[in-house]
Order: sequence, then C-alpha cells, then structure tokens
Amino acid sequence: MPVLYRSTRAQTPQTFTASQAILQGLSPDGGLFVPEKLPQITLDLKELASLSYQELAFRLLQPFFSDFSESELRECLNKAYGKNFTSPEITPVVLKDGLFYLELFHGPTIAFKDLALQLLPHLLTTAAKKNGSSLQTLILTATSGDTGKAAMAGFADVPETQIIVFYPQDGVSAIQARQMQTQTGANTHVVAITGNFDDAQTKVKEIFDDQSFATKLHTAGFQTSSANSINIGRLFPQMVYYFYAYGQLLKQGQLKAGQKIDFSVPTGNFGDILAGWYAKKLGLPLGRLICASNENNVLTDFFQTGIYDRRREFHVTTSPSMDILVSSNLERLLFYALDKDGAKVAQLMHELKQNGYYTLPKEALAKLQTEFLADFATEDQTAAEIKRVFTKTGYPLDPHTAVASAVAFRHTHTTPLVVVATASPYKFPEAVLEALGHEHASGLKAVKQLHEVIKWPYPQTIQTLFEAPVKEALNCAPEEMPQMIFEILAQVK
Ligand SMILES: *Cc1c(COP(=O)(O)O)cnc(C)c1O
Repeated sequence: MPVLYRSTRAQTPQTFTASQAILQGLSPDGGLFVPEKLPQITLDLKELASLSYQELAFRLLQPFFSDFSESELRECLNKAYGKNFTSPEITPVVLKDGLFYLELFHGPTIAFKDLALQLLPHLLTTAAKKNGSSLQTLILTATSGDTGKAAMAGFADVPETQIIVFYPQDGVSAIQARQMQTQTGANTHVVAITGNFDDAQTKVKEIFDDQSFATKLHTAGFQTSSANSINIGRLFPQMVYYFYAYGQLLKQGQLKAGQKIDFSVPTGNFGDILAGWYAKKLGLPLGRLICASNENNVLTDFFQTGIYDRRREFHVTTSPSMDILVSSNLERLLFYALDKDGAKVAQLMHELKQNGYYTLPKEALAKLQTEFLADFATEDQTAAEIKRVFTKTGYPLDPHTAVASAVAFRHTHTTPLVVVATASPYKFPEAVLEALGHEHASGLKAVKQLHEVIKWPYPQTIQTLFEAPVKEALNCAPEEMPQMIFEILAQVK
C-alpha cells in the first residue's frame, strides 16, 4: 500500500505522493504534510544491532517514500551517508558518566542538520525527475547562520540544482560567515543582505509567493523549492538515528531487545524530537521523550499548561539554533493529539498568528503529557553542565547538547537515557571555553584555544576554515534580492 500525504489543516483532504510532498515542501493551504496512515514496519529489534546505517535507513524510509523505486532510494541514501561522514557508524553512541550521547555531528558541517540535508538534495532531484519536470531546482534560503551552511554543503555540486543563501550582514558570527564563504560548489551562492534575519526571511517568503516571479523563473528554466525543516524529506530521515542508537546499545550489551530507552533532545523547531516520536509510533521501545529547551522555553510551558504563548521576550543564548519562539513542526504533533481534526488544527494555528497564543483542549494535553517530559536549562545551568561533564569525564559538550544533558541529568531515570548530541564543541568554541573558565579570543583564534583544551583533532570543516580560499560574498538590500537572484542565475546558465 503506497503511503499518501495530506495536510494537517485540511478537513476533506486532498492527497499527494511522497515525491510531490517533497517537491512542494508545504501544503497549498499552509499546513504541513503528514502521512494519511502510518505505514507498518516489520523489523526484528534484535536485527537492529547488525544493520548498517544505510540499510536501516532504507528499511525505515522505503514505506514512507513509497513512490521511489528501491534503486532510486538506495542511490539517494548511498550518496547521503558515505565518506562525507567521518565516522563509519554515521551516528555513534558513547557512554559518559551514566548518560549516553548520540553524536549527530560527524557530517560535513559538524552539526545534526547534516543528517537530513545531506539526503534532501538527492530526494528532491529524484522527485523532480519522477514528476516529469525538466526545470532545474533553485533552493532559496534565509539563514541566521547554521542552516545556510548545512544546506549549501548538501546541495554542493548536486546536478540540476542551484542554491542561493541570504544571510544578515551583521547577524551571523565571523566563523559562520567564513563557513559559508569557503563553501565549494559552482552551484552554491551566498549573499549578505543589509538588514536582519527577519528582513531576509520575510523577503524569501514573499518571493516564494510571488506568481510573476515564478513565471519569470520558469522561463529562465528554474523552479523554486525550499530546504526548510518542515519538508518530509528532512523530517523522516531523522527517525533513523533513534533506531540506530537502540541497535548500538544492543550491540554494546547495554540493553535487552524490547527494553525501553529514553531520549533527551535539545529542541528548537521540534523536528528532531518529532522524528523520535514517529520512531516510537513505528514500534521502537521508547519510554519518555524529554523536550529540552533553553531560556526560550515556550515548549516547556506548553507541555505543562497546554497554552502555547509566543508573546514573550526573545532571549539570545549560547545555543542559537534553539532560539525559536514558534516551533513549526509542533503542528504535526497537534494534528495527532487532536485526532486528525484538520479544522481544529487550522483554528489553533490561526489563533497563534492572530493573537500570539492558543490553548490545547485538556484531553489532548493529557495525551501528550504521557509521552513527553518538557524542561529547560538556563544559560548558567548550561555552562555548568559543560563544566561538570568535562571535569568528570573529559568529554566536551557543545551548548545545545549541554541543554539536553543538564535537563537529563536532573531527572532520575531507570532505563538507559540517551542525550542527543547535536553539534560539535568546535562549532561554538567561545561558549565552551567560557563555560570551562578559560580566557578566550573569538572566531578562529578561539577554535585553536579550544583545541589546546579538548585535544580533539580538527574536523575537516574546521581545517577548511583555516585554509580554503574565501569567496567574496555578494551584497544587496532586501528589496534587491529578486534582481540579485536573476543576476546569479544568468551567470550560471
Ligand atoms: C537545529 C538544531 C537544533 C534543534 O533542532 P530542531 O529540529 O529545530 O528542534 C538543536 N541543536 C542544533 C545544533 C541544531 O542545529
């Protein structure tokens, strides 16, 4: 039975194939794509200990992307999870002082978004071909730093694609700007805009909605697509490492097949943890999912009270990828909590947009509370956790991982607890040095100082920062972005 996709907001849903949903990203009514019915996965838990990451990914994703042929999907997976990851296990698990850490930072940009963004470009180009498109795919992304780099790394030199990343000129760190400017690939382009992240984001959204722009673009041989985290081509591949972690614990003799484990997940847009929840629905023996937030703790309040309220102060923290007040992927969880009532989801999303908050009905909240435990760590607690774990074990946590670790450490557990480690400490050297009580410089100097302290070899991406030629970033004002896009495309044709 092929799995078809529908919108979270539809009452009488129209359905889409997986490849259509991947191409479109968002449903036409503004809702998110969810499977009409969850597929059945037949997987012997004991077998998890022996499957390779790529094979496991195939078995889990094939039912979700059911209009991809076996060879198409395998080819995508082999391109995505190969030598571009520095660990042959792709996502290894290590044990430090009673907590397991699932390391999602062995990809090309040393952070978790690589797990999805190394695969998405291949899914997109395959989907475009399947749907008979002869146009090249143009990815447009506004970034506050990390996603832009991870997306460029994923799309670099993928045939029939171009990617243009817009970042706020004064809104990203020196390292982040340099990471983007040293990206290879003739099809990757980066533009610094005057203005802040919201200006860039708003303009990109406008461009996506502009019919006359789309027509002009078609004439030039392109169609736009989005690489953002609500795409099912990013969401579902994230289920794989939850299963894989379980397999590794079996292999390490830390578990008996069938025994439950908990995960603590540093959460921003709710994509990572939602993939864990889907893994549970597919039969992974998962106890509690701990939703760990930083001081932007809108989700902690939501799971405790049922009120989602974004009308609050925005905190700039040392874990910037979690500095989010509207977690887009939460809409999918609401859809299930509300028994797939699309009209009700649409109403709550409308209230959020109009009034800045909504209240989940009591019964729905009660369901969620049995599956999620939500908590947050302050900036001081996060720094203290980096220090605690490093002092005790010599293992350096990045601030995002430290948020999840601090929250996990606080809650007693009787089953193995896996902290999802989403970034390498090399990505945030200043914050890690600060937490460890070292005087430090910033940027590349801080990277070298951190190396002196933690002694981890430099990952390739860091080596590149030191050595690779720096591309001059293009510059423009937000209102000039459409024109800039055509100038770039004119040069690549
Ligand atoms: C994106 C990101 C997160 C948050 O993941 P979501 O899927 O947005 O919840 C956590 N840590 C790091 C390092 C990230 O890049």
